[in-house]
Amino acid sequence: MTTGPDRQAELSADELRDSGGLRNLALSRGEVDRSTERRGDAAWLAAAWADPGTRVVVVEDGQALVRSGEGPAELVFLSPAEAPEGVRFLLGTDAGGVVYFGVAASLPPPDGEQVTGLGARPISLRQAGPLLSDRDAGLMTHAVALGNWHAVHTHCPRCGALTEPELAGHSRRCVVDGSEHFPRLDPAVIMLVTDPDDRCLLARNAMWPERRVSILAGFVEPGESAEQAVAREVHEETGVTIGGVRYVGSQPWPMPHSLMLGFRATATGSLEIRVDSDEIAEAHWFSRGELRASIASGEIRLPPPVSIAHRIIESWYGTELDGAW
Ligand SMILES: [Zn+2]
Repeated sequence: MTTGPDRQAELSADELRDSGGLRNLALSRGEVDRSTERRGDAAWLAAAWADPGTRVVVVEDGQALVRSGEGPAELVFLSPAEAPEGVRFLLGTDAGGVVYFGVAASLPPPDGEQVTGLGARPISLRQAGPLLSDRDAGLMTHAVALGNWHAVHTHCPRCGALTEPELAGHSRRCVVDGSEHFPRLDPAVIMLVTDPDDRCLLARNAMWPERRVSILAGFVEPGESAEQAVAREVHEETGVTIGGVRYVGSQPWPMPHSLMLGFRATATGSLEIRVDSDEIAEAHWFSRGELRASIASGEIRLPPPVSIAHRIIESWYGTELDGAW
């Protein structure tokens, strides 16, 4: 068995999408090469933008135009000449050599326009993610993430002056002090906790409507490991002490700029739940049978399949489950 870069090259697309056992998470399926080595190559970028075969996806406030009809849903791509003015970023190059860009701008008018075609409408990544092909889901996730970052990083955090995009839209530089700023990600942990009887802990956030439940989650704090964040969040929110933290997979969640890191953990002490009522309205242990019955009766609703939460719950449960937030 080889190691290092050779091994990476040998990984199949399926293996690359197999995120720690959670296969084909809706937003972790991208298959277009990111062409990172081209981001500083002005001549290559100009030639790609001049090529009418280059495909451009426009994003605005986390939405893109998606065409859905008879077949699978598809992103609406424009040629560079058709694309509106806006912050432009290189998304990558596919196996056929087609180059993809994103542009953060107002979405083109959807229906009835020659340029976008019939059946196109603006939809959010949360809705579009599960409907799109691997290629399009990856491109939209990448484009929405960069669009969201550019939208709120127009000014230098050091001196307050304007910043300008660089590296094909993958960094910004301050026009006054020259400091360079890269896209920010907020790492968040999301974890399924089980008790010694293999029941799982589900909770309802205080901001959610009745019946909606999920596994616990929270942001990683500065100076904290992901595993420490898992233990802290579970204890803060439910009073339960855990151990045996293990990573199960990750999914980008650029709404607006999170990376969800999925974990399993086991309760090590008392199973008594004391919720932090500021954050959590209620939390309960569910056996598989209790979960099935509670979903069937409408007593609880799980998060939608696009979420890593849904997929982690399914991986514990053993088969697919209905999610109907
Ligand atoms: Zn500055």
